[in-house]
Parts: sequence; C-alpha cells; structure tokens
Amino acid sequence: MTTHRLFLNGEWVDTGTHREIVDPGTGKAFAAISLTDRAGTRRAIEAAEAAREGWTKKTAMQRADILLAAAGEIESRREEIARTVTMENGKPYAQSNGEVSVTIDHLRWFAEEARRAYGRIVPHQAEGKRHLIIRRPVGVTACIAPWNFPLVLSARKVAPALAAGCPVILKPASQTPVCAVQFAECLEKAGIPKGVFQLIAGPAAEIGDELLENPAVRKISFTGSTEVGKSLIEKSAKTVTKLSLELGGHAPVLVFADADLDLAVEGALITKFRNTGQSCIAANRIYVEKSIYDEFLKRFAGKTKALKVGYGLEEDVDIGAMVNREGLDTALAHVQNAVDAGARLVCGGNAADVGSGGGYFLEPTVLADVPSSAECMIEETFAPVAPVVPFETEEEAIREANNTRYGLAAYAFTSDLNRAFRLSESLEAGTIGINDAVPSTSNCPFGGVKESGIGRELGSEGLDAFLETHHVSFGSVG
Ligand code: NAP
Repeated sequence: MTTHRLFLNGEWVDTGTHREIVDPGTGKAFAAISLTDRAGTRRAIEAAEAAREGWTKKTAMQRADILLAAAGEIESRREEIARTVTMENGKPYAQSNGEVSVTIDHLRWFAEEARRAYGRIVPHQAEGKRHLIIRRPVGVTACIAPWNFPLVLSARKVAPALAAGCPVILKPASQTPVCAVQFAECLEKAGIPKGVFQLIAGPAAEIGDELLENPAVRKISFTGSTEVGKSLIEKSAKTVTKLSLELGGHAPVLVFADADLDLAVEGALITKFRNTGQSCIAANRIYVEKSIYDEFLKRFAGKTKALKVGYGLEEDVDIGAMVNREGLDTALAHVQNAVDAGARLVCGGNAADVGSGGGYFLEPTVLADVPSSAECMIEETFAPVAPVVPFETEEEAIREANNTRYGLAAYAFTSDLNRAFRLSESLEAGTIGINDAVPSTSNCPFGGVKESGIGRELGSEGLDAFLETHHVSFGSVG
C-alpha cells in the first residue's frame, strides 16, 4: 500500500502521521496519505506568501504555459488518474475518464483566460485627470474541494487562481486525496515554482480555522455542503477573507407534455444517475405533466432497471459504489421515509450485493407519487434515488421547482419555445438546462443562487473570482 506525501513548498513531505484511504467499492484501504495540522498549514501559508510576488510578476503567458504543460501531463497519465478517481470515489471508470477530460479542458480554458484579465480606461470628468481600472491577483488562495468530483472540482478552482497570479493551497476531501497528489505531480512536472502550488491534508476544521484566521490568506474557494459553507461565512467575519462558495443543490426536472419524451427520459436518467447520483446538480425531484406521467414513469423505470450496478473498474458499469457507509444509510433512510409518507416504490430501494460484499452499493431506485413532505423532496439524497411526481399546470410546476432553499441547477424538457423562455426567466437556479441534461461547460459560469452558494466558477467569471479591481487616478496629465 502506497503512502502518499504532501507537496509543501516545492518538496514532497511525509509528515509521519497518516490516514488510510478506503476504496468504497470494496470497503478496504488501498493507500494512505500524510496529514498535516494547524502549524503545518501555517507554514504552507508562509511559503505561499513568500512565493506570491514572483508568481504575480510572471506574465500571463508564462503562467498559461505552466497550465498547458500540466494539462499535457494529465493527458499522458489519463488512465492511471482515472483509475485513482474510481478507486477513491467509487464512480464507474468511464465517468472518471470523462472527469479527466473536463479537468484538462478547464486547465486549457483558464490558460487562455489568463491573457484576458483586461482592465479599462475611463473617460475623465475633470481637466488633467486620467482614470485607469486595473485588475490584480487577490493574493494567497486556499481551495477546499469535495469528494464527489475530486479532480475536476479542484481544477476549476486551482486553474483560474494560478492563471490570475495567485499562489494556491489545495485541501482535497479526506476521502479523495490521491488524485490531488497526482494533480500536484503534474503541476510539479509542468514547472510550477516552489510555494506557488501546495497540497495539504488533515483535520478539516483545524486547517479551515488557520486558513480563515491567517491574514495572509486573502481568498478561500470552497465546494461542499451548505452547512460547512455557512460556518465559513461566520468565521470569515473576523478577517473579511473573501469567499467563493459552491454549495448543495436540490435540482428539479420539469417534463412537459409537449416534450420529446425519449429525450426527456434519457435526460432525466443522465442527470439523476451520473456519478451514482452523488452530484450537486443531480435531479432530486422529477415533476412530470399529468397527461404523460404514467408513460414517462414506465419508460424511466424500465431504463433505470436496466442500469448495471457494479465495481467501478469493471466493464460497462453504470452505477458504482456510493462514497461511504453513511451515504448509503442516508439514502436507504430517505427511501423508507418516502414510502412511510405514502410514496410508491417502483424499483430498487435496497442495498445491492456486489463483488465481495464489502462495498457500499445501492440499487438504482425510482419512487412515484412522492409527497412534498418526504425528506427526499426537501434535502439532497445524494444517491441514485429518483422521486417522480405529477403536476397539472406550468405555474404549479414552477412553484414546486422553486420551493426549496437551494438554487444550483434546474432542468426542463419542452418543445414550446415561449415556455422555454418563461422557464429560463423564472426557475431559481444558477444553471438551467432546457432539453439539456449536461449543461455545465468550461466557458460558461457555474454557481448557485439562494443557499447554493456565492460567486461563480468557470467562464470569464471564474477568473474574476481571483482578481481584485483597483482604480488608479492620475491627477495632472497633459
Ligand atoms: P463537506 O462535508 O462540506 O466537505 C467539503 C470539503 O470541505 C472537504 O474537503 C472537507 O474536508 C472540507 N471541510 C469540512 N469541514 C470543514 C471546515 N470546518 N472547514 C474547512 N473545510 C471543511 O461536503 P462533502 O460531503 O465533501 O460534499 C458534498 C456536498 O458538496 C453536497 O452538499 C454537494 O451538493 C456539495 N457540492 C456542491 C458543488 C457545487 O459546485 N455547488 C459541487 C459538488 C458538491 P474533509 O473531507 O476532510 O471533511
């Protein structure tokens, strides 16, 4: 079993304290990671601060070259890295491979965006004055990533921060640090200067407190649960550390009678079951117009039953392991709670027996006629569990879709262009997919409204998040 080291100030460091990493598909440890503590985090911040000026002064093109070289390194190690993602997270290999592709695309996108951190010149109002608006890197940045898309969600923070000229400290989730080690190796090979990128791991709250209380850290970009996000907001009040927060979701899918039904069934299937249902933009509530409800349910359940559950590294697996026992237990409790509340269990609903039996697998599950009081209609189940509910009018569908504290993604299937525009302007979500189950892309902003977060990643907004705007006024020109 390999014990992975941390990447601190240009060195690979074994701290002597380790944590085992469990493969959720087998329930067995397959690797270990070194851990640091608050004092180690402080040293990493000092190293980042020491490296800041040199990195900031590099040209955008020099920074872009390193990101492009890192993308090339990841491409050359694609298979190995995708295997790691599957072993840490449990997702099917093909989806891990897809995650590697999107990671490479993010690195390339932000390498290009680095050259576009434009300022502007504003016409002067007083004689002799001139006004420049310039944008400068925010400073030392900490990136805190979750386990569900461990590689790509790290890259969409690290790449823009580096592109903007900020030194970065990455803290991956405890469950999934090994692909972060490989990511760090690729950045090292690409020539990232000492201290500009560092990888830490260890007790999250302790590390988080140092990152928030240390005045050298100017920005924290966090993806994870709304609860932890709220605690970061509270604690950041002491230092006014800037926060970007990508938090929980509870995405609705609206299927109207005028939709292409095959497209809607396929779309709902993808957005629900991708990543074993453990996606922040996963369909959590599927609302179907009453006149097509039975037909949709029949086709959707038929395709759900045909999904192959299995160990992520096996061929043709659609549904991999859930990340841990806790995730599986929460999903089973949500199913039971929905049935107790009056929902109909159409298929699935049980833990699935796969391989040696040590992993955490759930049968893909469809629940029909789920009352709005059921827990799965209120909170993320984060599992392959699909609640389906009928609606009668567009107004009712929009009202139900928006009846949540979350607002990350929403989907609608319709062939009516006017309705599509009405939905675009009334669904309360940062990302809206109209006849599109996979709306997220490197070149468009991504983020939540309401309790799903603050700020945007990706697109040109993704670079803005790591830049400060400065006004420079010249008093006596000409
Ligand atoms: P989580 O428990 O909030 O953890 C996310 C990250 O925060 C992990 O690295 C975790 O470290 C760290 N963390 C935990 N407590 C912390 C603290 N007090 N201070 C600083 N860092 C702390 O979330 P998760 O269970 O990994 O991820 C699932 C959640 O993320 C879901 O709610 C999902 O919807 C959301 N998510 C949102 C997006 C989005 O783009 N909006 C994308 C993916 C996931 P440890 O692992 O060491 O505890």
